[in-house]
Amino acid sequence: MSGNDTGILAHKPLTLTKKRLRWLVLLSSFPLFGMMAAFGIAPDTSTGAHPIENVIRSLELPEIQPFEDYDMTFWRQERIQAGDTIASLLSRLGVNNQDVVGFLQDTRGSRGVNQLIAGKVVHAQTTAAGELRLLRYFSGGSEQLVMEKVEGAFRVSEQPVRFETHIQMKSGVIDSSLFAATDGAGVPEGVATQMVDILSSDIDFHRDLRKGDRFTVVYDSLYGNGEPARPGRVLAMEFINQGTPHRAIYFQSEDGTGGYYAPDGKNMRKAFLRTPLEFSRISSGFSSGRFHPILKTWRAHKGIDYAAPTGTRVKAAANGTVSFAGWKGGYGNVVILQHHGQHSTVYGHLSAFAKGLRAGQRVSQGEVVGYVGATGMATGPHLHYEFLVNGVQRDPTRIAMPSAESVAAKHMPAFYTHTKPLMARLDMLRETSLAFLD
Ligand SMILES: [Zn+2]
Repeated sequence: MSGNDTGILAHKPLTLTKKRLRWLVLLSSFPLFGMMAAFGIAPDTSTGAHPIENVIRSLELPEIQPFEDYDMTFWRQERIQAGDTIASLLSRLGVNNQDVVGFLQDTRGSRGVNQLIAGKVVHAQTTAAGELRLLRYFSGGSEQLVMEKVEGAFRVSEQPVRFETHIQMKSGVIDSSLFAATDGAGVPEGVATQMVDILSSDIDFHRDLRKGDRFTVVYDSLYGNGEPARPGRVLAMEFINQGTPHRAIYFQSEDGTGGYYAPDGKNMRKAFLRTPLEFSRISSGFSSGRFHPILKTWRAHKGIDYAAPTGTRVKAAANGTVSFAGWKGGYGNVVILQHHGQHSTVYGHLSAFAKGLRAGQRVSQGEVVGYVGATGMATGPHLHYEFLVNGVQRDPTRIAMPSAESVAAKHMPAFYTHTKPLMARLDMLRETSLAFLD
């Protein structure tokens, strides 16, 4: 069998036309794996607020456009490295010296060309002889710089980036922390944060998470010129918390309002957040024996203590009005919010208030009202949170909270049409991840 294969291979070149032989020669003489070094060496050196994302992907071969033999062109891409000059970049892209010189002359006045940012990617279309046809430079905004050779001279223009959406699906299981699990699954930080926000009315991520909890998430990522350009939006997710599955699906109705809904069309957002404390990479990793977030003996304590580092953001649990923001005995710095109806909430031991916060001010759910501290009768930084009904402290975890508006009955057919394929993906991922993780 193998002898037969060898025979075929050995004879194959003999059947090639002259044209195809040239193809073979060109392909083998071209540095096909030039990208490997570019990906391995150059880190993303952007210093912006966006988290650095490591993208691991398989090696790509240059796209070959098999037109006429003589017109054959290659696409190559190189990551800009610190200290790169345009000339050094062009020569790494395989551009011949003549065109490097021409390019430098023709684009001398272009600001964009002279402001190359390390870590960004340049795509070049060249002929086999190293003649530069087209250069595309994508610096992260919604515009790309295009340098095209027209009648022997290079012209620079700004063009809109061609974005494409890639739908990603990831699954994970909680072992030590939520962020360790999302990191492990390759879920971007921005998506992990959305997952927490989406379920913030149903799950108290500070207290309810357990080892063995599982998630699956479907989200989109925008790519521009092959580079991740913007953090994606969660389209659907499932979180199995202590054995109970929570599913949420993004749906935008005809009138343009979008939100997250349960599979039956109920809004995932409730009148009150399950916890008024920001859940972040930092606060989630915080623990201390004394202030482990637990509901203390209800009769004695009448509140929930959340351990968190000083400065962690404290959010309004619901829309309301500030009825008090100041110092109050053992509470230290405290904010009291009055909500619609008979509810009020109390946030104690704050290190600081939100800038300009004062009595009478209206606040929205999730808005920052202050920062965790240890003022008043507190021996360590934590948030003391109280939930009151008609002035009496109640356990918020035992009170059914009203939801925000569900999908309108007239939009339910559209909702089911939209959610069906996403639910199918979640089902598929649940099967796959259970089989894989067990
Ligand atoms: Zn307390």
